[in-house]
Amino acid sequence: MLGVVELPVVAGALEAASPPSTAADPRDTGRMVPSGGPGPEAVAVAAPAAGRTAAVGVVAAAPASAPDPAELAAVRTLDGLRGLIGDCRRCRLHGARTQVVFGVGDPKARVVFVGEGPGRDEDLQGEPFVGRAGQLLTDIVEKGMKLTRADVYICNVVKCRPPQNRNPEPDEVATCSPFLHRQIELVAPEVIVTLGKFAAHTLLATDTPITRLRGQWQDHRGIPVMPTFHPAYLLRNPAEKKTVWQDIKQVMARLGLPA
Ligand code: SF4
Repeated sequence: MLGVVELPVVAGALEAASPPSTAADPRDTGRMVPSGGPGPEAVAVAAPAAGRTAAVGVVAAAPASAPDPAELAAVRTLDGLRGLIGDCRRCRLHGARTQVVFGVGDPKARVVFVGEGPGRDEDLQGEPFVGRAGQLLTDIVEKGMKLTRADVYICNVVKCRPPQNRNPEPDEVATCSPFLHRQIELVAPEVIVTLGKFAAHTLLATDTPITRLRGQWQDHRGIPVMPTFHPAYLLRNPAEKKTVWQDIKQVMARLGLPA
């Protein structure tokens, strides 16, 4: 285990990669939201995948526009799932996107990181977590866990950028999240790390605040889940990097990674 004295070293390394914080945001998601948008306790919903038992909590029926469960179940590879998504127009988020941002990394990764949705940089580059927040996640993976981005798998709840970086709406999450559920089934990781409240609420089907969820092991269909804060939140609240590092250390211990 990493000694207490080493914590500032790793947190400091993450700090060095991040610009100074601007205005503090009490929310735990990585998005900037127009005024009047969902507050910190906004509820995300999850649509159960075919043949699976829905987690207990806040669950909405899949909208008619949601992907066909039989087609999802028939997909056997991540490439096949990407092909099924295609030029998806199942929810209104297709209207403002540049491209679908599917996921990146080892298709058999031991750990999957799940964020909320693509931002501007991700939308332009077609890869999740490539902007400032993405650099911080890369630092967590590389400087903290001593892995590479190619060793892990990174994806989001919704695959298209919400316009003006607003939060995804519940029906958008319900429509798109079956893709995430199948994505996770295909990777079959040993551990999932949810980044921010939307990923945690979607995979855990709960509306429990992320401040209470983080740092506590949860379960998603038999896979241990470690909820933690979104890297974009850390850009605005760098003091919380040590908190996230504590969560990541639990993940490393669970995976048997050297501290
Ligand atoms: S967010 Fe998901 S469901 Fe909506 S258009 Fe994009 S891929 Fe399709």
